[in-house]
Amino acid sequence: TKWVYSFGAGTADGSADMKNLLGGKGANLAEMSSLGLPVPAGFTITTEVCTAYYDNDRRYPDELSGQLDEALAKIEAQVGVKFGDAKDPLLVSVRSGARASMPGMMDTVLNLGLNDETVRGLATASGDERFAYDSYRRFIQMFGDVVLEVDHHHFEEILELHKEDRGYSMDTDLNAEDWRKVIEGFKAKIVEETGEPFPQNPKDQLWAAVSAVFGSWMNQRAITYRRLHAIPASWGTAVNVQAMVFGNMGDDCATGVAFTRDPSTGENIFYGEYLVNAQGEDVVAGIRTPQHLTIQGKVANGSDLPAMEEVMPEVFGQLNDVRLRLEKHYRDIQDVEFTVQRGTLYMLQTRAGKRTAPAALKIAVDFVNEGLITKEEAISRVDPASLDQLLHPTLDPDAPRHVLTRGLPASPGAASGKIVFSADAAEKQAAAGDTVILCRIETSPDDIHGMHAAKGILTTRGGMTSHAAVVARGMGRACVAGAGELRIDYKTGVLRTRTDELREGDLITIDGGSGEVMKGEVPTLQPELSGDFGILMGWADSIRQMEVRANADTPTDCRTARDFGAEGVGLCRTEHMFFEGERIVAVREMIMADNERERRAALAKILPMQRQDFIEIFEIMDGLPVTIRLLDPPLHEFLPHGEAELAEFAEASNMPLDIVRSRAGKLNENNPMLGHRGCRLGISYPEIYEMQVRAIFEAAAHVSKELDKSVEPEVMIPLIAVKREIEILKELVDRVAQEVMDAEKTEIKYLVGTMIELPRAALRASEIAEEAEFFSFGTNDLTQTTYGLSRDDAGSFLGTYEHRGIIEQDPFISLDDEGVGELVSIATERGQAQRPDIKLGICGEHGGDPSSIHFCQKVGLDYVSCSPYRVPIARLAAAQAAL
Ligand code: ADP
Ligand code: MG
Ligand code: MG
Repeated sequence: TKWVYSFGAGTADGSADMKNLLGGKGANLAEMSSLGLPVPAGFTITTEVCTAYYDNDRRYPDELSGQLDEALAKIEAQVGVKFGDAKDPLLVSVRSGARASMPGMMDTVLNLGLNDETVRGLATASGDERFAYDSYRRFIQMFGDVVLEVDHHHFEEILELHKEDRGYSMDTDLNAEDWRKVIEGFKAKIVEETGEPFPQNPKDQLWAAVSAVFGSWMNQRAITYRRLHAIPASWGTAVNVQAMVFGNMGDDCATGVAFTRDPSTGENIFYGEYLVNAQGEDVVAGIRTPQHLTIQGKVANGSDLPAMEEVMPEVFGQLNDVRLRLEKHYRDIQDVEFTVQRGTLYMLQTRAGKRTAPAALKIAVDFVNEGLITKEEAISRVDPASLDQLLHPTLDPDAPRHVLTRGLPASPGAASGKIVFSADAAEKQAAAGDTVILCRIETSPDDIHGMHAAKGILTTRGGMTSHAAVVARGMGRACVAGAGELRIDYKTGVLRTRTDELREGDLITIDGGSGEVMKGEVPTLQPELSGDFGILMGWADSIRQMEVRANADTPTDCRTARDFGAEGVGLCRTEHMFFEGERIVAVREMIMADNERERRAALAKILPMQRQDFIEIFEIMDGLPVTIRLLDPPLHEFLPHGEAELAEFAEASNMPLDIVRSRAGKLNENNPMLGHRGCRLGISYPEIYEMQVRAIFEAAAHVSKELDKSVEPEVMIPLIAVKREIEILKELVDRVAQEVMDAEKTEIKYLVGTMIELPRAALRASEIAEEAEFFSFGTNDLTQTTYGLSRDDAGSFLGTYEHRGIIEQDPFISLDDEGVGELVSIATERGQAQRPDIKLGICGEHGGDPSSIHFCQKVGLDYVSCSPYRVPIARLAAAQAAL
């Protein structure tokens, strides 16, 4: 087996399409090398080695060592220096790289190969003693932390003490002699902590670092990240070993990161940051404030440090050429790392750039217009779930605001919440129902869970490519980074501006689009959905085959649904109207009624209200289909709760309190979700369904006659299990519909159908379809009844189930296509066999979940229906499913 893949000098064993084997970083280093871009020579140890390592009790395949030696010799030949050579040593970086990019998750060791001897060789060969010892101490620090697991605080403390001793304020104040002292301190600390001296043999160093990378695949941070992003542990990581290049050899050196386009807005401008005379992670770590690549970027961000374009125009020109080549080649926005060593440019990484939702849209649309990709590719590139971010609020421009300070607009969206200072606090308070803003000096991978729990993230240090910024954009959290005027004191729990002092729990608002940080809660507005959004949605609509409808109960819902492009109402839950205003009194009278006469009297009060609702809904939907579900929940849900409400109701309805109490008691059920609800109510109290059907058809007649609009009601009967149920109730609907049409002297086109939400109904779909003209899969109840799992109670253990891999996903969020899905397929087949033109849709929560939507397409449903705010997500997901 080939376990090691080399790259460098215009060739490579691997390529970009080998990400599974080489990891993202390794595959793209190989690709860039083949393209002839300046990539330092190196090799990739495959992900298969990682898998083999864990499968065999942390032992490596036998052939690995020989292959590694050969690959190392290739690097030596290309660079012209030898690993471990005391006079002029080859140094390497050891970098992890999994299939999916896991920013900051795995640890990198730079400058490997240095020891007490080679460091002198490096000093002579480079002619820069200070650089050599600075590199050595960095190596010991990283190796000590990552490989030997000596806490990094120890090293920082030693360095700080030395600086204090000498009266230095910055690292750059230290000279070669200082670094030698610091190195002695580091080495002593390592002996103290591990009982062993710092390893001097470069080969031992290399193997230890490789093992540490493989070991980090199973560290807590990585496991958490994988859990949050559904990445299987079996993928493994690759290890990249690469010749070092140095951005810290003087002022003609630099290191930086760049995006080929602006990752926040998607604008076609080169976007990036760099530091002169710096190494590796200095830019991302936010230790020094980075400089901009372009003059434009510098001006836009009000920076007074010179841009790379000004400082090293020639190298900048080369970098810009690389940028254009990479975009053409990858046909996507790239996120690159580069280093300039004494005026020469080196490329160290490229990958598809993470971008905000608005940027993803703009880039997809622009790339089509630039002729780089097709509309279908554009559609497939935008993550439907990310559209959610576009529906995020922005600050109301007219609302008063007290701006405390301004940081970098690192991830868009406005968010208000209570101040918390630690990731753990964020998680705890969010779980308790608070919205929180996580405020940190800077963030690290240890904070991921808190960033996830927070509504927004505020840091006082770091640039647009700092950890906080990159992760927040990926998660869709609002983020203001590098608000340098703020002071955070973790110990006392205080956030200080020049004028104010805020404490944990105080409200603040951040605007990740402008970078503003404001005191208190500032009101927000919903965004406009036009421009690129409209264009992409238009393409999606032309490609998708399924209709997208909305679950909308009220006129307001219907308006939102239409604004978002819904093509009908897939589920209108009539009972939601029962709670509005004064109506509940009449509804309770209806429920409490002792006999049919009393009940009809109460129903007569409700009829005009329901009719008015339907008139408005039909008017708004303007000829689009509207599926109305007749009363579904158990009646006791509408009852007064507690003595006070009971008494209030008794008074309002003129009923004696003890009668009210006893009738309410009778309606109690042990297992109401499986009790007297749905069509069972229609069978017991036909007058309720009669009233609802009358309201629907009188409304339809009104809208078609008076407003001259077409109306297409679809009457849906819930919770059918047995054919006879729908037979009885369909007769009822047809009879009342006919009565209304006769009285109004008009014809109304309508359908009668059912929700398929019980396993029995799915299995007996054939005979049910003799009556039902449409099926709407009520996958919430169908999931509950198939799993025998209560949605309201499952929360307490479903988490554990997911964690232990017993189930892959919460079946209430993503349709269980194996079990529940099989019932959907069976019902679809049997229903269609009985009634070839039967209309099929889904109206559970799943109708707005992209992976469930793929399943619906596969089964051949006619439409999906979801909450109004998810309609754009469903439109895009349906288009992707049709590709
Ligand atoms: P991450 O995945 O966290 O970005 P990387 O492996 O990309 O980790 O490396 C961390 C930092 O070290 C980056 O800034 C990268 O550019 C730098 N780096 C990695 N390898 C080399 C090398 N061979 N020479 C110089 N810098 C390097
Ligand atoms: Mg990197
Ligand atoms: Mg239901």
